[in-house]
Amino acid sequence: MAGARLTLWGPFRLGRPAVIVHGGAGGWRGVSSLEEVEAAVQEAVRRGVVGRDARNMLVEAIVALEDSGVLNAGIGSVLTIDGRVEMDAGLMMDDLTAGGVGAVTYPRNPIRLAEWIAFNTPHVLLVASAADRLAERLGLERHPGPSSRALERWRRVMEKLQAGAEDLPRRYVELYRLYYGDTVGAVVLDKEGRMAAGASTGGVAFKHPGRVGDSPVPGAGFYVERGVGGCSATGIGETILIGRPCLYAVELLKAGVPVEEAARAAVARHTRLFGGDNLGLILLDAEGNAAAAMNTEAMPVAAAGSEHELATVMKRQS
Ligand code: ASP
Repeated sequence: MAGARLTLWGPFRLGRPAVIVHGGAGGWRGVSSLEEVEAAVQEAVRRGVVGRDARNMLVEAIVALEDSGVLNAGIGSVLTIDGRVEMDAGLMMDDLTAGGVGAVTYPRNPIRLAEWIAFNTPHVLLVASAADRLAERLGLERHPGPSSRALERWRRVMEKLQAGAEDLPRRYVELYRLYYGDTVGAVVLDKEGRMAAGASTGGVAFKHPGRVGDSPVPGAGFYVERGVGGCSATGIGETILIGRPCLYAVELLKAGVPVEEAARAAVARHTRLFGGDNLGLILLDAEGNAAAAMNTEAMPVAAAGSEHELATVMKRQS
């Protein structure tokens, strides 16, 4: 099966501090050029690596990705089947503090709301209109609404979908599997050796309103453990929620498996469980070694540390 092929990036020794980010695994039928997304992930690691601590490094890297406008998060978010932006985001610190938001529409930077929830409430996950009201009360910057690129694609695909209306349910499922991707995520290690991981997304394009994926859920969209390592995932959220590849990858690190082997094994396991074309992940260990793996067509990644800075768009090897 072509989709079952696995592509690996790394390992790279980044040192301490270190930041690795991804710009979403998928088929890259997105509306942005590969040059634009490579520049966006590179800018994000530059912003992250100068942060004052793991929390600040992680949030600033993800805010940069949300603000890029060329990835499926923040102002670049894809649209639901009814043409609206609904975003998920979450983060976790290596002391097991975590916060996330699901199906929010108000904040320009959902990761800032997830951060606030992690550090100021006893909760992990807040969703939909109540989370939006909180964002407004906190004075977070407001999301400008669907980008012209996202709207234009939504109109184009909806026209095609409606043209074959008799097959609507089947066509909808096909569409869903075709248009995931471009989500963002990051894992960081600060100078003191503290770590954090997180993700942010507009979700899968053409999703049902109210659908929440893996990106705000610790263990699924991201996971980190002190002295071990951290992971951020991207792909079809329904498979990631069930398979928990980030938790699995970090458990492998804990068992002493090298970072590239752990990344490869986590994606291979996911492929065995769910088939191909549904997962990419980035992995960073507590020593500052990074790798990325995917079973999709492409995934932009960038990493920066005291010993290295690099960015690329990973492509499936044919
Ligand atoms: N994992 C995200 C979701 O299912 C989508 C993606 O990574 O592209 O919401």
